Amino acid sequence: MRTWIKDPLAILADGATRGVVVEDGRIAELVALGAEPPVRTFDASRHVVIPGLVNTHHHMFQTLTRAHPAAINKELFAWLDTLLPIWAKNLNPDNFRLATRLALTELLMSGCTTVSDHQYLYTPGLESAIDVQAEEADALGLRITLTRGSLNLTIAEGGNAVPASVQDTDAILADCERVVARWHDRRDGAMTQVALAPCAPFNVTRHLMIETAALAERCDCRLHTHLAETRDEIDYCLEKYSCRPVDYLEEVGWMNERVWVAHGIHFNDEEVKRLGRARVGVCHCPTSNMVLASGQCRTRELEAAGSPVGLGVDGSASNDNSNLIEGVRHALMINRLTYDAASVTHLDALHWATAGSARCLGRSDIGSIAPGKQADLAFYRLDELRFSGAGDPLAALVLCGAHAADRVMIKGEWRLVGGTPPGVDVARLRAEHGEAAKRFLQAV
Ligand SMILES: [Zn+2]
Repeated sequence: MRTWIKDPLAILADGATRGVVVEDGRIAELVALGAEPPVRTFDASRHVVIPGLVNTHHHMFQTLTRAHPAAINKELFAWLDTLLPIWAKNLNPDNFRLATRLALTELLMSGCTTVSDHQYLYTPGLESAIDVQAEEADALGLRITLTRGSLNLTIAEGGNAVPASVQDTDAILADCERVVARWHDRRDGAMTQVALAPCAPFNVTRHLMIETAALAERCDCRLHTHLAETRDEIDYCLEKYSCRPVDYLEEVGWMNERVWVAHGIHFNDEEVKRLGRARVGVCHCPTSNMVLASGQCRTRELEAAGSPVGLGVDGSASNDNSNLIEGVRHALMINRLTYDAASVTHLDALHWATAGSARCLGRSDIGSIAPGKQADLAFYRLDELRFSGAGDPLAALVLCGAHAADRVMIKGEWRLVGGTPPGVDVARLRAEHGEAAKRFLQAV
Protein backbone atom coordinates (compact mmCIF):
# COMPACT_ATOMS: atom_id res chain seq x y z
CA MET A 1 0.00 0.00 0.00
CA ARG A 2 1.39 3.40 -1.06
CA THR A 3 0.38 6.43 1.01
CA TRP A 4 1.14 10.03 0.21
CA ILE A 5 1.75 12.12 3.38
CA LYS A 6 0.33 15.12 1.59
CA ASP A 7 1.11 18.82 1.85
CA PRO A 8 2.59 19.13 5.35
CA LEU A 9 2.68 22.54 6.98
CA ALA A 10 6.46 22.05 6.95
CA ILE A 11 8.77 19.06 6.59
CA LEU A 12 12.38 18.54 7.57
CA ALA A 13 13.53 17.16 4.20
CA ASP A 14 14.92 18.73 1.03
CA GLY A 15 12.83 18.40 -2.15
CA ALA A 16 9.69 17.26 -0.32
CA THR A 17 7.57 20.43 -0.27
CA ARG A 18 4.41 18.41 -1.00
CA GLY A 19 5.36 15.59 1.39
CA VAL A 20 6.50 12.00 0.95
CA VAL A 21 5.12 8.71 -0.33
CA VAL A 22 5.44 5.80 2.07
CA GLU A 23 5.37 2.18 0.92
CA ASP A 24 6.24 -1.12 2.62
CA GLY A 25 7.59 0.60 5.71
CA ARG A 26 9.97 2.87 3.80
CA ILE A 27 10.07 6.32 2.29
CA ALA A 28 9.36 5.55 -1.40
CA GLU A 29 9.61 9.05 -2.84
CA LEU A 30 9.80 12.73 -2.01
CA VAL A 31 7.01 14.82 -3.52
CA ALA A 32 8.24 18.08 -5.00
CA LEU A 33 6.22 21.20 -5.73
CA GLY A 34 3.79 20.56 -8.61
CA ALA A 35 3.88 16.77 -8.33
CA GLU A 36 0.69 14.76 -7.71
CA PRO A 37 1.26 11.03 -7.06
CA PRO A 38 -1.87 8.97 -7.86
CA VAL A 39 -2.10 7.16 -4.51
CA ARG A 40 -4.08 7.14 -1.26
CA THR A 41 -3.38 10.29 0.74
CA PHE A 42 -3.03 11.34 4.34
CA ASP A 43 -3.81 15.04 4.76
CA ALA A 44 -0.82 16.49 6.66
CA SER A 45 -1.70 20.12 6.10
CA ARG A 46 -1.90 20.80 9.85
CA HIS A 47 1.29 18.95 10.68
CA VAL A 48 4.97 19.76 10.90
CA VAL A 49 6.74 16.55 9.88
CA ILE A 50 10.25 15.60 10.99
CA PRO A 51 12.22 12.35 11.02
CA GLY A 52 11.30 10.30 14.10
CA LEU A 53 13.50 11.27 17.02
CA VAL A 54 16.20 8.81 18.09
CA ASN A 55 17.10 8.64 21.77
CA THR A 56 20.66 7.46 22.39
CA HIS A 57 20.92 7.34 26.19
CA HIS A 58 18.43 6.60 28.95
CA HIS A 59 17.79 4.53 32.11
CA MET A 60 14.09 3.81 32.00
CA PHE A 61 13.89 2.13 35.41
CA GLN A 62 14.78 5.49 36.99
CA THR A 63 11.26 6.82 36.29
CA LEU A 64 10.46 5.21 39.66
CA THR A 65 12.62 7.75 41.52
CA ARG A 66 12.00 11.05 39.80
CA ALA A 67 12.51 14.14 41.94
CA HIS A 68 13.40 11.84 44.83
CA PRO A 69 13.69 14.04 47.94
CA ALA A 70 16.96 12.41 49.03
CA ALA A 71 18.61 12.93 45.64
CA ILE A 72 17.55 16.33 44.38
CA ASN A 73 20.03 19.21 44.43
CA LYS A 74 23.07 16.93 44.22
CA GLU A 75 25.78 16.37 41.63
CA LEU A 76 26.37 12.99 39.99
CA PHE A 77 28.45 11.03 42.52
CA ALA A 78 26.36 12.09 45.54
CA TRP A 79 23.19 11.58 43.49
CA LEU A 80 24.27 8.05 42.53
CA ASP A 81 25.40 7.19 46.08
CA THR A 82 21.90 8.10 47.25
CA LEU A 83 19.91 6.30 44.58
CA LEU A 84 21.89 3.15 43.76
CA PRO A 85 21.10 1.43 47.08
CA ILE A 86 17.41 2.34 46.69
CA TRP A 87 17.26 0.93 43.17
CA ALA A 88 19.23 -2.20 44.08
CA LYS A 89 16.95 -2.96 47.01
CA ASN A 90 13.57 -2.21 45.47
CA LEU A 91 13.59 -2.97 41.76
CA ASN A 92 11.68 -6.13 40.86
CA PRO A 93 10.34 -7.59 37.62
CA ASP A 94 6.92 -5.96 38.04
CA ASN A 95 7.99 -2.39 38.77
CA PHE A 96 10.81 -2.69 36.22
CA ARG A 97 8.28 -3.60 33.52
CA LEU A 98 5.99 -0.71 34.46
CA ALA A 99 8.91 1.74 34.49
CA THR A 100 9.98 0.52 31.07
CA ARG A 101 6.47 0.79 29.67
CA LEU A 102 6.00 4.28 31.06
CA ALA A 103 9.32 5.66 29.78
CA LEU A 104 8.82 4.12 26.33
CA THR A 105 5.33 5.62 26.16
CA GLU A 106 6.63 9.02 27.21
CA LEU A 107 9.31 8.89 24.54
CA LEU A 108 6.85 7.81 21.86
CA MET A 109 4.44 10.60 22.83
CA SER A 110 7.25 13.13 22.45
CA GLY A 111 7.93 12.00 18.87
CA CYS A 112 10.55 9.33 19.42
CA THR A 113 10.68 6.35 17.05
CA THR A 114 13.94 4.65 18.13
CA VAL A 115 15.01 4.19 21.73
CA SER A 116 18.24 3.15 23.34
CA ASP A 117 18.24 2.31 27.04
CA HIS A 118 21.39 1.76 29.10
CA GLN A 119 20.14 -1.00 31.42
CA TYR A 120 22.88 -1.82 33.92
CA LEU A 121 21.00 -3.14 36.99
CA TYR A 122 20.50 -6.92 37.25
CA THR A 123 19.57 -7.52 40.85
CA PRO A 124 18.09 -10.96 41.68
CA GLY A 125 14.85 -11.31 39.70
CA LEU A 126 15.92 -8.89 36.97
CA GLU A 127 17.96 -11.39 34.96
CA SER A 128 15.51 -11.00 32.07
CA ALA A 129 15.49 -7.19 32.09
CA ILE A 130 16.62 -6.93 28.46
CA ASP A 131 13.93 -9.38 27.36
CA VAL A 132 11.31 -7.33 29.23
CA GLN A 133 12.48 -4.19 27.43
CA ALA A 134 12.32 -5.94 24.06
CA GLU A 135 8.76 -7.13 24.78
CA GLU A 136 7.59 -3.70 25.90
CA ALA A 137 9.12 -1.92 22.89
CA ASP A 138 7.54 -4.50 20.60
CA ALA A 139 4.11 -3.92 22.18
CA LEU A 140 4.36 -0.20 21.29
CA GLY A 141 5.94 -0.82 17.89
CA LEU A 142 9.09 1.13 18.83
CA ARG A 143 12.55 0.40 17.48
CA ILE A 144 15.02 -0.24 20.28
CA THR A 145 18.74 -0.68 20.76
CA LEU A 146 18.82 -2.89 23.85
CA THR A 147 21.93 -1.75 25.66
CA ARG A 148 23.10 -4.55 27.94
CA GLY A 149 24.87 -2.70 30.75
CA SER A 150 26.81 -4.08 33.71
CA LEU A 151 28.26 -3.29 37.15
CA ASN A 152 31.05 -5.31 38.77
CA LEU A 153 33.13 -2.93 40.91
CA THR A 154 31.84 -2.47 44.45
CA ILE A 155 32.60 0.27 46.95
CA ALA A 156 34.90 -2.12 48.85
CA GLU A 157 36.85 -2.72 45.62
CA GLY A 158 37.25 0.99 44.90
CA GLY A 159 34.15 1.52 42.75
CA ASN A 160 30.78 2.99 43.65
CA ALA A 161 28.42 0.05 43.06
CA VAL A 162 26.65 -1.38 46.09
CA PRO A 163 27.21 -5.14 46.50
CA ALA A 164 23.57 -5.98 45.72
CA SER A 165 23.87 -4.32 42.30
CA VAL A 166 26.88 -6.15 40.87
CA GLN A 167 27.16 -9.37 38.88
CA ASP A 168 29.99 -11.78 38.38
CA THR A 169 32.07 -11.00 35.27
CA ASP A 170 31.51 -14.40 33.65
CA ALA A 171 27.75 -14.15 34.24
CA ILE A 172 27.70 -10.69 32.63
CA LEU A 173 29.58 -11.83 29.54
CA ALA A 174 27.47 -14.98 29.19
CA ASP A 175 24.26 -12.95 29.34
CA CYS A 176 25.65 -10.45 26.82
CA GLU A 177 26.17 -13.34 24.41
CA ARG A 178 22.67 -14.63 25.14
CA VAL A 179 20.91 -11.33 24.45
CA VAL A 180 22.95 -10.71 21.29
CA ALA A 181 21.97 -14.14 19.99
CA ARG A 182 18.32 -13.53 20.83
CA TRP A 183 17.77 -9.88 19.92
CA HIS A 184 20.53 -8.48 17.72
CA ASP A 185 19.12 -8.06 14.23
CA ARG A 186 21.82 -6.75 11.86
CA ARG A 187 19.46 -6.31 8.89
CA ASP A 188 18.34 -3.03 7.37
CA GLY A 189 15.10 -1.91 9.02
CA ALA A 190 15.76 -3.89 12.23
CA MET A 191 13.33 -3.32 15.10
CA THR A 192 15.69 -4.65 17.80
CA GLN A 193 19.44 -4.44 18.06
CA VAL A 194 21.83 -4.99 20.99
CA ALA A 195 24.77 -2.94 22.22
CA LEU A 196 27.08 -3.90 25.10
CA ALA A 197 27.58 -1.31 27.81
CA PRO A 198 29.66 -1.58 31.01
CA CYS A 199 28.25 1.26 33.11
CA ALA A 200 31.15 3.67 33.76
CA PRO A 201 34.88 3.76 34.62
CA PHE A 202 34.03 4.08 38.30
CA ASN A 203 31.83 0.98 38.63
CA VAL A 204 33.22 -1.71 36.31
CA THR A 205 36.66 -3.32 36.16
CA ARG A 206 39.26 -2.76 33.45
CA HIS A 207 39.06 -6.50 32.72
CA LEU A 208 35.32 -6.27 31.99
CA MET A 209 35.86 -3.29 29.66
CA ILE A 210 38.48 -5.25 27.68
CA GLU A 211 36.45 -8.46 27.53
CA THR A 212 33.27 -6.60 26.53
CA ALA A 213 35.08 -4.88 23.66
CA ALA A 214 36.36 -8.23 22.43
CA LEU A 215 32.86 -9.71 22.62
CA ALA A 216 31.36 -6.78 20.69
CA GLU A 217 33.95 -7.33 17.98
CA ARG A 218 33.07 -11.03 17.75
CA CYS A 219 29.31 -10.37 17.78
CA ASP A 220 29.45 -7.33 15.51
CA CYS A 221 27.51 -5.05 17.81
CA ARG A 222 28.09 -1.60 19.24
CA LEU A 223 29.64 -0.50 22.53
CA HIS A 224 28.41 2.13 24.93
CA THR A 225 29.39 3.57 28.31
CA HIS A 226 29.28 6.77 30.35
CA LEU A 227 32.42 8.86 29.88
CA ALA A 228 33.79 12.19 31.11
CA GLU A 229 30.48 13.24 32.62
CA THR A 230 31.95 15.06 35.62
CA ARG A 231 35.17 16.48 36.96
CA ASP A 232 34.87 13.95 39.80
CA GLU A 233 35.24 11.20 37.19
CA ILE A 234 38.46 12.78 35.85
CA ASP A 235 39.85 12.84 39.41
CA TYR A 236 38.75 9.25 39.94
CA CYS A 237 40.50 8.03 36.78
CA LEU A 238 43.68 9.96 37.60
CA GLU A 239 43.76 8.42 41.04
CA LYS A 240 42.75 4.85 40.17
CA TYR A 241 44.12 4.41 36.64
CA SER A 242 46.76 7.18 36.59
CA CYS A 243 45.27 8.59 33.40
CA ARG A 244 42.34 10.62 32.14
CA PRO A 245 39.08 8.96 30.93
CA VAL A 246 40.00 9.14 27.21
CA ASP A 247 43.40 7.52 27.88
CA TYR A 248 41.58 4.83 29.80
CA LEU A 249 39.14 4.32 26.92
CA GLU A 250 42.11 3.83 24.60
CA GLU A 251 43.89 1.45 26.99
CA VAL A 252 40.88 -0.87 27.19
CA GLY A 253 40.46 -1.03 23.40
CA TRP A 254 37.47 1.24 23.02
CA MET A 255 38.80 3.98 20.72
CA ASN A 256 36.97 2.94 17.57
CA GLU A 257 33.84 3.62 15.55
CA ARG A 258 31.92 0.82 17.25
CA VAL A 259 31.67 3.04 20.33
CA TRP A 260 29.35 5.84 21.40
CA VAL A 261 29.67 7.35 24.87
CA ALA A 262 27.12 9.18 27.00
CA HIS A 263 27.73 12.80 28.04
CA GLY A 264 31.35 13.29 26.86
CA ILE A 265 31.77 16.63 28.60
CA HIS A 266 35.22 17.07 30.10
CA PHE A 267 37.53 16.55 27.12
CA ASN A 268 40.54 18.75 26.35
CA ASP A 269 41.41 19.86 22.79
CA GLU A 270 43.76 16.98 22.18
CA GLU A 271 41.22 14.42 23.43
CA VAL A 272 38.51 15.86 21.18
CA LYS A 273 40.82 15.34 18.18
CA ARG A 274 41.63 11.76 19.19
CA LEU A 275 37.95 10.89 19.67
CA GLY A 276 37.07 12.46 16.33
CA ARG A 277 39.84 10.58 14.50
CA ALA A 278 38.59 7.32 16.01
CA ARG A 279 34.96 8.25 15.07
CA VAL A 280 33.79 7.64 18.63
CA GLY A 281 30.20 8.93 18.90
CA VAL A 282 28.97 11.13 21.72
CA CYS A 283 25.44 11.27 23.10
CA HIS A 284 24.82 14.81 24.31
CA CYS A 285 22.39 14.84 27.27
CA PRO A 286 21.66 18.54 27.81
CA THR A 287 18.81 18.24 30.31
CA SER A 288 20.58 15.81 32.61
CA ASN A 289 23.82 17.79 32.35
CA MET A 290 22.05 20.96 33.45
CA VAL A 291 20.12 19.27 36.28
CA LEU A 292 23.24 17.64 37.74
CA ALA A 293 25.39 20.72 37.00
CA SER A 294 27.81 18.44 35.14
CA GLY A 295 28.92 20.84 32.39
CA GLN A 296 28.54 21.28 28.63
CA CYS A 297 29.42 18.78 25.91
CA ARG A 298 31.79 20.26 23.29
CA THR A 299 29.37 19.36 20.51
CA ARG A 300 30.75 21.64 17.82
CA GLU A 301 34.40 20.73 18.32
CA LEU A 302 33.58 17.01 18.48
CA GLU A 303 31.62 17.13 15.23
CA ALA A 304 34.35 19.14 13.53
CA ALA A 305 36.87 16.52 14.65
CA GLY A 306 34.79 13.69 13.14
CA SER A 307 32.66 12.34 15.99
CA PRO A 308 28.95 11.72 15.44
CA VAL A 309 26.93 13.68 18.03
CA GLY A 310 23.48 12.47 19.03
CA LEU A 311 20.97 13.38 21.70
CA GLY A 312 19.66 11.58 24.76
CA VAL A 313 17.17 12.40 27.48
CA ASP A 314 19.16 10.44 30.08
CA GLY A 315 17.57 9.80 33.40
CA SER A 316 14.82 9.56 34.12
CA ALA A 317 15.83 10.57 37.62
CA SER A 318 18.35 13.13 36.41
CA ASN A 319 16.13 14.76 33.79
CA ASP A 320 13.42 14.11 35.26
CA ASN A 321 11.38 13.22 32.20
CA SER A 322 11.65 11.21 28.99
CA ASN A 323 10.69 13.91 26.52
CA LEU A 324 13.14 14.08 23.64
CA ILE A 325 11.59 17.01 21.78
CA GLU A 326 12.01 18.99 24.99
CA GLY A 327 15.63 17.79 24.99
CA VAL A 328 16.02 19.32 21.52
CA ARG A 329 15.02 22.71 22.93
CA HIS A 330 17.42 22.31 25.85
CA ALA A 331 20.20 21.38 23.44
CA LEU A 332 19.64 24.58 21.50
CA MET A 333 19.68 26.70 24.63
CA ILE A 334 22.72 25.27 26.40
CA ASN A 335 24.74 25.22 23.18
CA ARG A 336 23.92 28.86 22.52
CA LEU A 337 25.38 29.72 25.89
CA THR A 338 28.58 27.94 24.90
CA TYR A 339 28.80 29.00 21.26
CA ASP A 340 26.61 31.71 19.71
CA ALA A 341 23.22 32.25 18.11
CA ALA A 342 24.38 31.94 14.50
CA SER A 343 26.46 28.79 14.90
CA VAL A 344 23.83 26.67 16.68
CA THR A 345 20.36 26.74 15.09
CA HIS A 346 17.11 24.88 15.67
CA LEU A 347 18.02 22.74 12.65
CA ASP A 348 21.30 21.74 14.30
CA ALA A 349 19.47 20.71 17.46
CA LEU A 350 16.96 18.67 15.43
CA HIS A 351 19.83 17.14 13.47
CA TRP A 352 21.48 15.89 16.67
CA ALA A 353 18.22 14.19 17.73
CA THR A 354 17.73 12.50 14.35
CA ALA A 355 20.62 11.95 11.92
CA GLY A 356 23.30 12.42 14.60
CA SER A 357 21.65 9.97 16.95
CA ALA A 358 21.17 7.44 14.15
CA ARG A 359 24.93 7.60 13.45
CA CYS A 360 25.67 7.03 17.14
CA LEU A 361 23.60 3.83 16.97
CA GLY A 362 25.42 2.82 13.78
CA ARG A 363 22.29 3.02 11.65
CA SER A 364 22.10 4.36 8.12
CA ASP A 365 18.46 3.33 7.58
CA ILE A 366 16.87 5.83 9.98
CA GLY A 367 17.35 9.46 11.10
CA SER A 368 16.38 11.35 7.94
CA ILE A 369 13.59 11.60 5.38
CA ALA A 370 14.96 10.31 2.09
CA PRO A 371 14.02 7.63 -0.46
CA GLY A 372 14.86 4.15 0.82
CA LYS A 373 15.03 5.16 4.49
CA GLN A 374 12.64 3.63 7.00
CA ALA A 375 9.28 5.43 7.22
CA ASP A 376 9.85 6.71 10.79
CA LEU A 377 8.14 10.10 11.06
CA ALA A 378 6.96 12.40 13.84
CA PHE A 379 4.01 14.75 13.25
CA TYR A 380 3.38 17.84 15.40
CA ARG A 381 0.46 20.27 15.31
CA LEU A 382 0.87 23.92 16.14
CA ASP A 383 -2.58 24.38 17.67
CA GLU A 384 -1.60 25.16 21.25
CA LEU A 385 -1.42 28.71 22.55
CA ARG A 386 2.37 28.48 22.77
CA PHE A 387 2.61 28.32 18.97
CA SER A 388 0.16 31.08 18.09
CA GLY A 389 1.89 33.79 16.07
CA ALA A 390 4.80 31.59 14.99
CA GLY A 391 6.28 32.31 11.57
CA ASP A 392 8.67 29.46 10.77
CA PRO A 393 6.93 26.16 11.65
CA LEU A 394 10.15 24.12 12.06
CA ALA A 395 11.74 26.80 14.24
CA ALA A 396 8.50 27.03 16.22
CA LEU A 397 8.78 23.39 17.26
CA VAL A 398 12.00 24.14 19.07
CA LEU A 399 11.66 27.80 20.04
CA CYS A 400 8.04 27.68 21.25
CA GLY A 401 8.67 24.42 23.08
CA ALA A 402 6.80 21.53 21.42
CA HIS A 403 6.40 18.75 23.95
CA ALA A 404 3.95 16.31 22.38
CA ALA A 405 3.64 14.73 18.94
CA ASP A 406 0.15 14.34 17.46
CA ARG A 407 1.06 11.33 15.35
CA VAL A 408 4.04 9.03 15.00
CA MET A 409 4.72 6.56 12.20
CA ILE A 410 7.26 3.76 12.61
CA LYS A 411 8.13 1.43 9.73
CA GLY A 412 5.09 2.82 7.91
CA GLU A 413 2.65 2.01 10.76
CA TRP A 414 0.81 4.56 12.92
CA ARG A 415 2.09 4.07 16.47
CA LEU A 416 0.71 7.32 17.89
CA VAL A 417 -2.66 8.77 16.89
CA GLY A 418 -4.17 11.90 18.44
CA GLY A 419 -1.27 12.07 20.91
CA THR A 420 -1.67 8.57 22.39
CA PRO A 421 -0.53 5.08 21.37
CA PRO A 422 -3.52 3.06 20.11
CA GLY A 423 -4.53 0.45 22.68
CA VAL A 424 -2.66 2.02 25.60
CA ASP A 425 -4.68 3.20 28.61
CA VAL A 426 -2.45 6.13 29.56
CA ALA A 427 -4.42 7.03 32.70
CA ARG A 428 -4.18 3.48 33.99
CA LEU A 429 -0.47 3.32 33.23
CA ARG A 430 0.02 6.57 35.16
CA ALA A 431 -1.91 5.21 38.15
CA GLU A 432 -0.12 1.84 38.26
CA HIS A 433 3.33 3.33 37.83
CA GLY A 434 2.60 6.02 40.40
CA GLU A 435 1.62 3.35 42.94
CA ALA A 436 4.79 1.36 42.24
CA ALA A 437 6.92 4.48 42.60
CA LYS A 438 5.41 5.35 45.98
CA ARG A 439 7.14 2.37 47.50
CA PHE A 440 10.53 3.75 46.42
CA LEU A 441 9.82 6.87 48.45
CA GLN A 442 9.39 4.80 51.58
CA ALA A 443 12.62 2.91 51.01
CA VAL A 444 16.03 4.00 52.21
ZN1 LIG B 1 23.28 7.78 32.09
